[in-house]
Amino acid sequence: MLVLDNFLLFFFGALIGHVVPRFPVLLMSRGRGFNVHFPPHPEAMPLGPHLNQRILHLRTFYWLSLVVVVVPLTVGLASVRWGNAAFGFGLWLAGGWLVINRLQSFIGGPKPPWTMGMAEQLQTVMNRSSSDAACCAWPVPVWGITEVRCSNCDARLLRLARPDLGRRRTDGRIMGLLRLLISDGYPLVSSEEE
Ligand SMILES: [Zn+2]
Repeated sequence: MLVLDNFLLFFFGALIGHVVPRFPVLLMSRGRGFNVHFPPHPEAMPLGPHLNQRILHLRTFYWLSLVVVVVPLTVGLASVRWGNAAFGFGLWLAGGWLVINRLQSFIGGPKPPWTMGMAEQLQTVMNRSSSDAACCAWPVPVWGITEVRCSNCDARLLRLARPDLGRRRTDGRIMGLLRLLISDGYPLVSSEEE
C-alpha cells in the first residue's frame, strides 16, 4: 500500500511540475479580451502586426517557463528535505526535464514553437504581398494549419505549419488544455516539406 501511495504522490508531483511552468503559455493570452483582433480558433489567422505581436508574446511566455519552473523546483527541494520525498522527486523530475527541454534548443534539435525568425518570415510574406511581386491584385495572406496562403487567389505563399497561437481553443477547456500540454504549442501536423 505504501509503495502505491508513494507512486501516486510521485506521479502527482510530476504532473504539477509539468503543468505549473507552462501556465504563462496556457493561460496568459486565452482571455476573450486578448483575442478581439483574431478570428476564433481554429480558423485561418490573417497576417498582420497583431499576429506578429502575438507570436512574440508567446515566445516570451515560452521562455518565462524557465523562471516559473523555480517554484516547483523549490517546493520539490523542500518536499524531499522535510516533506514527502516521492512527491518532491516527481516535482524535480518534471521541472528538471522542462529545463533540459528548453535549453536543448541552444545546442540543436527542434526550435521553440514560436521564434523571432517565424515573425520575420511572416513579415516577409506581408511585404511581398504589398509589393509588385504580389500573388494577385488584392492579396489577403492568411495562416492555415499547414501553410500561409492568399485567401483571395488561393496561392500558397509560405510553407509553415501553424503552432498554437494563444487563442481560446474551441475543443473545450479540458481537451484544449490536454492538447496544449501534449503538443507544448507545436503544430500537431507538420507542413508537407518536412
Ligand atoms: Zn493572392
